[in-house]
Order: sequence, then structure tokens, then C-alpha cells
Amino acid sequence: MDRLTPEHRSWNMSRIRGRDTVPEKRVRSLLHRLGFRFSPMRSGLPGKPDIVLPARNAVVFVHGCFWHQHDGCRNASMPSTRESFWAAKLHGNVARDKVVAKQLRSLGWRVLTVWECELKQEELLGQRLRRQLIGQAGMRRAG
Ligand SMILES: [Zn+2]
Repeated sequence: MDRLTPEHRSWNMSRIRGRDTVPEKRVRSLLHRLGFRFSPMRSGLPGKPDIVLPARNAVVFVHGCFWHQHDGCRNASMPSTRESFWAAKLHGNVARDKVVAKQLRSLGWRVLTVWECELKQEELLGQRLRRQLIGQAGMRRAG
């Protein structure tokens, strides 16, 4: 038994099928409400970012805290069974995330990460995204 929670499983399955996960949809609608516009094209970019905002030169990854090992997050704890299997898999994900972020930055993109647990406080998340996407100076004119 891998003891995955149902959330882990459903996240995993939707990733495998290449569909939008619920967290991705929620981040999209949050950004939309904040007045940001994004492009559906993403396949040509390293790591296939979940959301691409061409006008802001920014890409957003919506990461599951478990699968991408959110640092210090209680949702990121390593399963207690088959430890070496999980360690290899999860550390592999983290290493790949770093490589992808570096590639994107070298292509001139700003790379933002939204953690699944941040969706519990959408208001705060929205403020952070605005700050990162427009900076303090441009706070009044999103878009
Ligand atoms: Zn987290």
C-alpha cells in the first residue's frame, strides 16, 4: 500500500490524463478575477507551465504540495512505506522543477509557483500574485 490520500490520487490521475486539475482551474479563475489574461498556448515551453501570461512575461506552475515537496509544508510529508521509492520519485520531481525554472528564466520568463495549500487563502494568494506580476508600483492597473 502506498497510502496515498484521495487528493494525491486524483491529482496524480488528472496529471497523467493531461487535464486541468481543480487547483489549476481555481488559480486560473483567481487570476481572471484579478484582471489578468493568459494564453492557452503552453506546449512549446519547457516544463509546460500550467498558466502562461504573455503580457507579463510570466508563467505559473500550480504545484501539489506532496508531488513537488513544498518546503516545510505539512502536506509534503514523505509516505512511511516504500520510502526509497518515494524519495527517488519526489526528489526527482523537485530536481526537474528546478531545471525547468532555470530554462524558462533563461528564455526571459518570470516563473511563479502556486502551492496547492495556498488556495486555502485565496485572498492572500491573490495579493501575492498581483505583487509578483505587476509589482507594487503598478498595483492599480492590472491586465
Ligand atoms: Zn503546501
